[in-house]
Amino acid sequence: MTGCSEPQADKYEAARIRMVRNQIQDRGVINTAVLDAMRKVPRHLFTPKEYQDQAYNDYPLPIGYGQTISQPFIVAYMTEALKPGKKMKALEIGTGSGYQAAVLAEIVDKVFTIEIVPELSAESAERLKKMGYENITCRSGDGYQGWPEQAPFDIIIVTAAAEKIPQPLIDQLAENGRLIIPIGAPAAVQELILISKKNGKTIEKRLTYVRFVPFRRL
Ligand code: SAH
Repeated sequence: MTGCSEPQADKYEAARIRMVRNQIQDRGVINTAVLDAMRKVPRHLFTPKEYQDQAYNDYPLPIGYGQTISQPFIVAYMTEALKPGKKMKALEIGTGSGYQAAVLAEIVDKVFTIEIVPELSAESAERLKKMGYENITCRSGDGYQGWPEQAPFDIIIVTAAAEKIPQPLIDQLAENGRLIIPIGAPAAVQELILISKKNGKTIEKRLTYVRFVPFRRL
């Protein structure tokens, strides 16, 4: 990414509008706040330069350090499942490029995001700051323990595949909050699980099958 800021109408705008229609709306995402955010966030600024021309295509892309920026549809699908609202506070585990954090930050009040690869964390913090996202706070470290100083969260999104749901994340979920996480063995197909908290109890719903990079521990 260069130091200069991108004008609102960039050369990828038409591709971004098409992406939302063909990959996201056509597959059933209807939440207007989510669709608006996906139309607004310049995804090409979150991919390495050599992949910018593919940023609006229907697949994940490498972002270095063996990690990926998720497929656009998956970002939209997970965001919609979380039922994000204007006044909400969100936690993301797995900042990666910062794209998912930016999409959430267009909708909710505040986003806290943790990334285990220090270089990726620093790069995305810098990128998000340059883009003017003042409501996103980045931290480098193992997201397993969540962010206790900022808990509880209305929304928790984990964008790496874990074998089981980290208990600290369940503990840091607010009453009526929602947590989404891919669960399953690494290098296999995982199941996307949605957890909601009602009267202190958690309700689990299985959504769909996905493939994410593994959740790691320090
Ligand atoms: N949400 C990202 C995609 C993330 S890929 C985006 O929009 O670009 C998953 C990320 O989770 C990787 O960058 C990986 O390094 C990170 N990760 C894996 N285990 C983690 C952990 N325990 N804590 C924090 N981040 C973790």
